Amino acid sequence: MAKKKGKLRAEFRKHHESRRRDGDLTRQFHHGAQPLEDVARGERVSGKGKLTRKRTVFGDEVTGDEHGFAVHLDVDLAQALRGRVLAVRGLHSTVVTDEGRQYRCATRRLLKTLSTDARHVVIAGDVVLFRPEGAEEGIILRVEPRHGTLSRTSRQRQHLIASNVDQVLVVGSAAQPDLKPNLLDRFLLSAERTGIRPIVCINKVDLIDAASLQPLVGNYAQLGYATLLVSATTGQGIVRLRRLLRGQQTAVVGQSGVGKSSLLNAVDPNLKLRVGDVSEESQKGTHTTTTATLWPLASGGFVVDTPGIRQMELWDVVPEEMAGFFREFRPFVSRCRFPDCTHVHEDDCAVKDAVADDLIDGRRYESYCRLREGDGLE
Ligand code: GDP
Ligand code: ZN
Repeated sequence: MAKKKGKLRAEFRKHHESRRRDGDLTRQFHHGAQPLEDVARGERVSGKGKLTRKRTVFGDEVTGDEHGFAVHLDVDLAQALRGRVLAVRGLHSTVVTDEGRQYRCATRRLLKTLSTDARHVVIAGDVVLFRPEGAEEGIILRVEPRHGTLSRTSRQRQHLIASNVDQVLVVGSAAQPDLKPNLLDRFLLSAERTGIRPIVCINKVDLIDAASLQPLVGNYAQLGYATLLVSATTGQGIVRLRRLLRGQQTAVVGQSGVGKSSLLNAVDPNLKLRVGDVSEESQKGTHTTTTATLWPLASGGFVVDTPGIRQMELWDVVPEEMAGFFREFRPFVSRCRFPDCTHVHEDDCAVKDAVADDLIDGRRYESYCRLREGDGLE
């Protein structure tokens, strides 16, 4: 294959808009005359604000960069295999092929040097092309364009944690610990911000009278969220949960102790996740590296697990953006008297009017106010 080495200066300007009714954050690209179609392959990211990047690269093809794109250079793909990154540990990634074979892979040096932050070259969830070296090892040549990226911003920098996440399973428990709808809303808000589809899952329904959950479940269902009542102990709802996870890459979030590990074990007993593990508590508040792990499900698909994702401290939301992520507020937010209305204390607030008219659920509005005031993180 002839390798055409061209010098290519690419400017990517991306910005996110939340104008779509379903909350997807779309990203648009403006670029010069270079054919960068590959870049524009409908990616969604969780980043915020406007970013402009300029980068000079050498190569025959550009498919992106470390912020959700791969850079593809002179790659001879004839013998390459395709796989998904289950975990990244140090310089090595565990990659699994569609057939279920696992390879320990290093990353091609050229890929690394093109990245401004080596940690972001390859992340859990990435779909990669790699060259096998023997039966169990390989070298990652290329990272395919990402979607559904989970990230955390710290010290002005965006840290990517996992990519290609299709949905977020927001788990709460009906009791022990008590149901905290406010916390569910907090998780939903974070999911809305990333544009990744959330599913509401309330576990431990064996401990309560399920009828008592109907108002809450009815409200979420009305907002268009898939909502499940389940019990890892009795098996109630597990078949439906398994079906929802099948073939998808799902991030599982929720307070410690609500039964996330138990539920995943119920969905796939091969996982054998530790139940009642308190180690995630000790991770709270620390800002050490958050490494994600993907667990393949026997029924197809993957679940994404990291302590950081579980706590969701990482999914920072700017207060001014919050109302837009409460999907039922959206028809009203532009009708307030003040363009910068917080919908908490202002007069002539269309959101508050909607609550008074029962067009917005009062409990959700209270949740919003608490989150807006910086409450609801615990
Ligand atoms: P995680 O921290 O969210 O992963 O929660 P675990 O899966 O470790 O479970 C926490 C505790 O809740 C354990 O003692 C489990 O046995 C218990 N538990 C999990 N699911 C259920 C359930 O459906 N019903 C009841 N009664 N207890 C459960
Ligand atoms: Zn308002």
